[in-house]
This record gives sequence, C-alpha cells and structure tokens, in this order.
Amino acid sequence: MSPEEFRRHGHQLIDRIADYHANVAQQPVMARVQPGDLLKALPDQAPQTGEAFADVLGDVDRLIMPGLSHWQHPNFYGYFPSNASLPSILGDFLSTGLGVLGLSWQSSPALSELEEKTVDWVRKMVGLSDNWSGVIQDTASTSTLVALICARERTTEYGLASGGLQAQGKPLVIYVSEYAHSSVDKAALLAGFGKDNIRHITCDDSLAMDPIALQAAIEQDLAAGLVPCAIAATVGTTTTTAVDPLTPVGAIARRFNLWLHVDSAMAGSAMILPECRWMWAGIEQADSIVVNAHKWLGVAFDCSLYFVKDSQHLIRVMSTNPSYLQTSVDSEVKNLRDWGIPLGRRFRALKLWFLLRSEGVEGLQQRLRRDLANAQWLKEQIEQAGDWKVLAPVNLQTLCIRHEPAGLAGEELDAYTQAWVNRLNQSGVVYVTPATLQGRWMVRVSIGALTTEREHVAALWAHLQQVVAA
Ligand SMILES: *Cc1c(COP(=O)(O)O)cnc(C)c1O
Repeated sequence: MSPEEFRRHGHQLIDRIADYHANVAQQPVMARVQPGDLLKALPDQAPQTGEAFADVLGDVDRLIMPGLSHWQHPNFYGYFPSNASLPSILGDFLSTGLGVLGLSWQSSPALSELEEKTVDWVRKMVGLSDNWSGVIQDTASTSTLVALICARERTTEYGLASGGLQAQGKPLVIYVSEYAHSSVDKAALLAGFGKDNIRHITCDDSLAMDPIALQAAIEQDLAAGLVPCAIAATVGTTTTTAVDPLTPVGAIARRFNLWLHVDSAMAGSAMILPECRWMWAGIEQADSIVVNAHKWLGVAFDCSLYFVKDSQHLIRVMSTNPSYLQTSVDSEVKNLRDWGIPLGRRFRALKLWFLLRSEGVEGLQQRLRRDLANAQWLKEQIEQAGDWKVLAPVNLQTLCIRHEPAGLAGEELDAYTQAWVNRLNQSGVVYVTPATLQGRWMVRVSIGALTTEREHVAALWAHLQQVVAA
C-alpha cells in the first residue's frame, strides 16, 4: 500500500468509524452469532498473493460486524463502560501511525515526557498528593501483577536478586476481599504466592472487606509462622462497586508492615468528582493504586494508570538495564521500561492527552455526574416498583437488581432470573450482565456509555418491566 492509497483508504475508514459512532444505536447490542460462525466463514490459509483493500473492507461488513457486541451502544449496560471517546480514538490512530516505541527515553523522548506529564495531570485530577508518581500500563491485570511483585520484593528484601521465592523458608501471604476482581487472584498466582497463600477476607453487609476479619486472618497467619506480605483492597468492586474501607485497612497494613495495593480500576475515574472522594478516604496510606482510564473516563482501550509511592523501589524491581539499552542521559530521565514488565511501550499517552484536552476536566466531570444521576434515577424507579429489589448500595453507576415475584425463591428464583435476562439480551434491544451475588443470580446494570442519556435509561426500565411481564 502506497502512502497515497493509504490516504484514500484511511479517509474511508475514518468515515466508517464516524458513521459507526453516529449510528451504533441501530445495531442489536449483543452479537447474534453462534460459536464457530466466523471460524467457519474464514479461509484456512492466508492468501498467497495480496488482495484489494476494498475486498478486505467488504469482509469487515460481511463477516466481522455481525460478530460484534457493541460496547459504544447507548443501551449497553453490560460489564462496565469502556468508552472509546472520539478524540482518544484519534490519539490511538496517531500513536499507531507514528509507529514509535519507548524503549528508553532516548528512543522517543516526547513519548516518555508526555506520559509523565499527562499521568501527573490525572494524579492531580483524582486528588492524589505529590507523593505519588505514575506510569501507563496496558491493563489493570498487569498493574496489579506489578504491584504484587513489588510487594513480594519488599518483603523478601529483593529476593529476586538471589534465590527468589524459592529461597524463602516461609510462605508469603496475600489478603484480598472475597469480592476482589479475579485479576487480583491471578496476579497473586503469577507472582508465585500460590493459591494456598491467598486469603479471601469476608465482607460486611455493604459487601466491603471487614477489617476485623482482615486483622484476625493476619494474626492467625503470624501465629502459624507464615509471612503476611500484602493487602489488595478494592474501591469499586466489579460485582457491586463496593468500597473496601481504606482508613482501617491502611492502618492494619502499616501496623503489620504490609504492602497496600488499591484496585480502583473502575471507580478511580469517579475520583475526579470531589463528591465521590469519600471512597478514597485513607488512600494516601496505600503503596500502589490502579485506575483504568480506559473504562468510564473515556480513553479508548487500553490505558491503565498505575501510581506508586516509592518509584525507586519499582525501578529496582523492574530494571535489568542491559548495556545495549544504556544511554548517556539515563541519570537525568525516566526510562519507563523500568516502570513495568514490557520493554516496548506504545505511545498511549497521546490518546489520554487528546481526551483531556478535548473534554477538559469539567467536561469529564459533567458526563460522569450525568451517569451517576441516571443510576440514582433508575434506583428510585426500581425501589418504588413492586417485586423488584436493589440488592446493593448504588455507590456509582452500577445497580444490582432482581425481580422477585411472590412465591419464587432459591433455585427457582435463579432459573427465573436467568431465563428473563437471557430473553432480554437475546432481544438485542439492551445488554445487561447476569452475575451471582451471595450465591444467587441477579442482574447487573452498568450505566455509563458515552451515548447513554436519561431517555435510554428510562427505556431500559420499560424493557425490564416488559420482559418480566411476558
Ligand atoms: C475492570 C476491572 C479489572 C480488570 O481490568 P483489566 O484492565 O481488564 O485488566 C480489575 N479490577 C477491577 C475492580 C475492575 O473493575
């Protein structure tokens, strides 16, 4: 493809993306395909000779588009919002188009410095003190893995530089809430702690980690000769957006000298709103925090912000520094390869920068407040209706709800819930996520797509009532 052909196809592609965003509401929200449909439709071999790009685009329409669920749809209430705001899409394009890599500061100086500056803007936007510095990782899963590796290395006094975990006489233990995201368990497993050494602390009525149970578990492990290492607290759990209480949890972390990692992948965006900062009370006691800018905030996937208190510790754990990567300016600059796992780094800061400059802090705050108000509105409707229940506090934009007709309980109620939610999702009109809470099926409604307005939420409420009446 020559640059001239690229220009022509590129313009077509931008038009398609603009049309997609303008018209996404006309698509069924959830893909209506069966497992294997695309695999069967695609040839078994790559083409031996090049094909016309128009044919490739044609196949996008014919084969790919029907196999997508539409996260940018105004009636998408599944999982969590993953907003691809238009300015950030352009930033992502530019990053790819420039094709630069940040292996070291010198390999693309502006890449490192824009990342340093934009992440620091976000630090201030979410109300963190200047004791923190941040870096962009791909996902929260990676950020949390980095955090637990750093916790491990603090406890073992840089065991990685000698025998590693294999030389530790006593097992190290990690503490998480029973509602922590699966990525926290995965990170603990990958960091070598072992399943036997992950404690799932019970939660209180608000579905948040119970600090008394946490302390008891730590003391029990100490008495058994184990080595408590880290607590991973969640602000905004995946199922219900519950908030682990950081003030008492942080005090426990300090008392027992444990690393405190805070997973606020989803809720972190809301910390740009002063009225939501109560959820982060005590955050300054943490050692590391993850905030996914690629969720509600609106940076096109992927862009996960990882903040640490002690960046020197992070660098000591992550740095290998082979001679071919050393440069004469290393003592004056940040080499972001030493702030995480991959060596190569995409220019992700561009899409964050484009978003922040296009929307401004106030624009972002306004949109998040709209979504919070929509969630409260829906909560009021559901609470006023007969037979419907809101099952957990609505701290943010996620509701956990269930229709409970008289006479239905236990497994019958589970079967009923799963049947109506499947009917609803299959209809293609809206998309919500079924999940279990305290052992029973319920339905999560996660509000916050860019295009979701009050009228859409009102329509959702009408659909919910219709589907259970049918
Ligand atoms: C979404 C989410 C994650 C996982 O995020 P990835 O970036 O996909 O790894 C982890 N924790 C919480 C609380 C989340 O909401």
